[in-house]
Amino acid sequence: MKAAMEYEDLCCPICISELVNPHLTNCGHVFCHDCISTYLLTSKVRPPQQKCPICRGQIKRKKVVPLENLAQTIEQLSTDEDKLVRVNSYEQWRDQTVIRNPIQPGDLIDVRDTLYVWCVGEVKEVISSPVGRPKTLLIHYKGWNSIYDEFISADSYRIAPFGTYSSRADLPKYLQNHREERRDPGLQLNPLLDLMQFMPR
Ligand SMILES: [Zn+2]
Ligand SMILES: [Zn+2]
Repeated sequence: MKAAMEYEDLCCPICISELVNPHLTNCGHVFCHDCISTYLLTSKVRPPQQKCPICRGQIKRKKVVPLENLAQTIEQLSTDEDKLVRVNSYEQWRDQTVIRNPIQPGDLIDVRDTLYVWCVGEVKEVISSPVGRPKTLLIHYKGWNSIYDEFISADSYRIAPFGTYSSRADLPKYLQNHREERRDPGLQLNPLLDLMQFMPR
């Protein structure tokens, strides 16, 4: 066990720089939010097989949590003069992934499915909530059977403006022709079988 915190504890093992919005994995490793998100997003394997880049332990996405106290400590101890640039670009990234306009039925948005693949979704319904609570969206995955339709909170990280992720060539996608074949109602399928292999360009 280490006696005291060392400077390297304030650094992210992926970008080798001071952590920006540090997030802790279930295996006990800490990364920038952007770094671990990008790593998981572009990973060749899908959950639950995804592994920590440091210890190869299985990462449970729902257990990747922000470390607010560490973020404050880093702010106090920071010696990185370029940090502001990185914080700004992180905030810009976060900003681009948030839907600003009020969402209407018929809107197309990006939606992340349970296998962490970003798909195109159509908003079928916008359901109001008690004052102060985010609305709930009924989302239809375009090209997929409606058995996959899903209710998602309007403030969820699983939705983003149309094209933010679905237009990226470096992220895994489902094969179009497989989706079209499988419109038969009631047909249960394993979406894993339809997943196109990730191919870097
Ligand atoms: Zn990082
Ligand atoms: Zn780990």
